[in-house]
Amino acid sequence: MNRNNSDSLFLRAQTWMPGGVSSPVRAFRSVGGTPVFFKHAEGSRFTDEDGNSYLDMCMSWGPLILGHSHPDVVRAVQETATHGLSYGACCRQEADLAELVLSAFPERWQIRFVSSGTEAVMTAIRLARGATGRSKILKFEGGYHGHSDSLLVKAGSGLATFGTSSSKGVPREFASQTIVCPLDDEQALEQIFTRWGPQLAAVILEPLPGNNGLLEQRPGWLRALRQHCDSSGALLILDEVISGFRSRFGGYGDRLGIAADLLTLGKIIGGGMPLGALAGPRDLMRQLAPEGPVYQAGTLSGNPVSLAAGLATLAQLQDGRAYHRLEELGQSFEAALEKAALDLPYLRWRRSGSLIWLYLDDSDPPRRADAISTVAVERFNGIHAALLDRGFYLPPSAYELMFLSTAHDEGDLADLASAIGELLRSAT
Ligand SMILES: *Cc1c(COP(=O)(O)O)cnc(C)c1O
Repeated sequence: MNRNNSDSLFLRAQTWMPGGVSSPVRAFRSVGGTPVFFKHAEGSRFTDEDGNSYLDMCMSWGPLILGHSHPDVVRAVQETATHGLSYGACCRQEADLAELVLSAFPERWQIRFVSSGTEAVMTAIRLARGATGRSKILKFEGGYHGHSDSLLVKAGSGLATFGTSSSKGVPREFASQTIVCPLDDEQALEQIFTRWGPQLAAVILEPLPGNNGLLEQRPGWLRALRQHCDSSGALLILDEVISGFRSRFGGYGDRLGIAADLLTLGKIIGGGMPLGALAGPRDLMRQLAPEGPVYQAGTLSGNPVSLAAGLATLAQLQDGRAYHRLEELGQSFEAALEKAALDLPYLRWRRSGSLIWLYLDDSDPPRRADAISTVAVERFNGIHAALLDRGFYLPPSAYELMFLSTAHDEGDLADLASAIGELLRSAT
């Protein structure tokens, strides 16, 4: 496959932009090779600058649950844009999307719109700190919550210790306010809450961790976490930037019966445009400026074009039929993978609805980040370039999920499954 135009664009980009990219994983550093530059996308496929077409299994990392360029979404964006791109003032679409999103959550909740998931999480943490008067927060190893200072933190040595920053430029004093705990471990929870519980403003968790593989948690562990939050007075922030509206019209926490004190959203609610949100009970949300003392603002917050894309996307999801279809597609992909895996004991995966994580090792896919095997990662990296050459665009990292959209179809997914099988077979 000829990708000369992508290659020369990447050279240009590297001159003017660090790593040639606007977000690091796009640089293909872990899978090797040169990133592909795209110029057009429709449905489940996109086309690069050399005219090659690919089946997209990444879908912009989650927002495009209806596929690329869904006609209703594009129309809503175009229609809205003809009336102005940004007012920097109030608009009807804010109330419209607020009502639609909140129809899926408990009564008397409120929402604030921001421009990214990172911003939503950053604000939720500030709000939790403001409301509780406490400073420390707890996150889980392998959880990703955007790139704000408090959350670029990984576990230090030994259990129940402060985190250490996972990025230069985060002061140790900030990192020391974040405690990091492994997933899937009741004992670790117990120890950490015994030691830090009374100082915790918030615990932040992806209820369906999906940024370091798909580390689906046991309901019992989630219930234990909810109880620890209740007894210590820490607020539970469910980070549903991926999982919100992904497998049902609403949150994944609610599906599991785990109530959130605050919820963060992004990706799907913006339908492919920049949009994030935090939502929670009115009493808590009222502590945000201008009603309360916790400050937050944004020049482009509540942007009418982003809100219109979100409205058009959620309108397609509301009656639940899309979720039924996504589950069907997921099952069909899984059946195709099973067929390909008959003679390949290390072709494994974890699936939750339309999210699939390939795990290329012969042990069961783990539930915690530190148990992901390096062999699995190497195998994935080993087949990524060859899949690309066959027209399958997988996320450029073994830790990232494949996202199905309603625009995918069974035939393409079966082809992908057999290509994965073939490549793994010829690699051994
Ligand atoms: C993507 C993501 C974020 C960050 O959202 P951005 O829009 O990239 O800033 C936060 N939390 C989770 C769970 C995510 O998947």
